[in-house]
Amino acid sequence: MGTINYMGGQLLRGTKNYIQGVYVGKDNSMRYIYADNAATTAVSESVIAAMMPYFREEYGNPSSVYHLGRNAGSAVENARAKIAEVMGCLPKEIYFTSGGTESDNLAIKGAARLKARQGKRHIITTVFEHPAVLKSCKALENEGFFVTYLPVDERGIVTVEQVSKAVCGDTALVTVMYVNNEIGTIQPIEEIAEVCREKGILFHTDAVQAVGNIPINLHETAQMLSCSGHKLHAPKGIGFLYLSTGVEIQPVISGGGQERGIRSGTPNVPAIVGLAQAVEDSCKNIPEKTARLTAVRDRIIRGILENTKGSCLNGDSRLRVCNNINISFPGVSGEMLLLLLDKMGICASSGSACAAGSLDPSHVLLAMGRSREMAKGSLRLTVGEDITDEEADYIVKSVVKAVS
Ligand SMILES: *Cc1c(COP(=O)(O)O)cnc(C)c1O
Repeated sequence: MGTINYMGGQLLRGTKNYIQGVYVGKDNSMRYIYADNAATTAVSESVIAAMMPYFREEYGNPSSVYHLGRNAGSAVENARAKIAEVMGCLPKEIYFTSGGTESDNLAIKGAARLKARQGKRHIITTVFEHPAVLKSCKALENEGFFVTYLPVDERGIVTVEQVSKAVCGDTALVTVMYVNNEIGTIQPIEEIAEVCREKGILFHTDAVQAVGNIPINLHETAQMLSCSGHKLHAPKGIGFLYLSTGVEIQPVISGGGQERGIRSGTPNVPAIVGLAQAVEDSCKNIPEKTARLTAVRDRIIRGILENTKGSCLNGDSRLRVCNNINISFPGVSGEMLLLLLDKMGICASSGSACAAGSLDPSHVLLAMGRSREMAKGSLRLTVGEDITDEEADYIVKSVVKAVS
């Protein structure tokens, strides 16, 4: 067992293993298990195939009137229709953006700034959101908004009662993530949405880690929902914001008025086509995928917890997305653990990728009440769809060895 470089993987493009990010050397003796799918995913073959014509032949600007432009325009509208069909909404409720970060910024800033005109300047969110949400809220505080950051319990869950109690007459917007990107916990989004609906308050959810992993019933979910392509086998730099009909927001990016004035800038046609393919692929067979991955996830969790002293699982064991394993080890440096695992051919992460490189312990783990020591000694593994039992066991063995 050794490691190979990433270019080696390209030789295997088209093999089953390449697609989900398990790189196998030409002689079949070397491999690299990619277990960081919450950070990003490999672009799938079907997505690449769907995009290729829009790099090569169909390179028109969707706003142009000649056939090349119209073809590109149709591709964007077909992609919008495909996503709407899979998500269960109207095509005109889907707005393409550059990804999760932009969708979060657009939803939160765009909605809050409009609500401020009605004198509503209160926002409710949670302490363990992605920085795209937390820093958007911080930016709004500088514009005179008041933000309530709801704490999370030791399971990594926010309750509907917490949201309900925080609402006041000035509340403009509630934003709570669907699945936490570090610990994988699933929040009671449909219940929170119902409370917001009853009280007539706008509700946004960052569903970047949820789309393709859990079935989403949009009408019961939120009036605004963020999705990112590169977390579901589309390229980086593409995503969408779902905006329910009737919800008005201000644009954050001004310009030529594309996306019905909500998001100016020439649409990234190939990436949009790829995103539609990825959403369709990843939302197929979610129950089967969930059942299989949940079993593998629990096998890895059990294996690691049983064979390491003082370790503990971060986040609820049941209200948890099917591919997330997050475990803390006392007296262990998360950074060191990652380097050792890298040598053993495993790509993993400690805390979130965005926080990597900084020595600050994860804000999510601290928010759940973990000590700084346990927060620093955390390991996140997010496995891919085609992981085998054998690979799961190899991960367990390697983690146990690296920790000891
Ligand atoms: C990755 C991620 C984002 C950011 O999405 P980008 O497309 O990388 O900007 C936002 N929220 C969550 C929960 C994420 O996991």
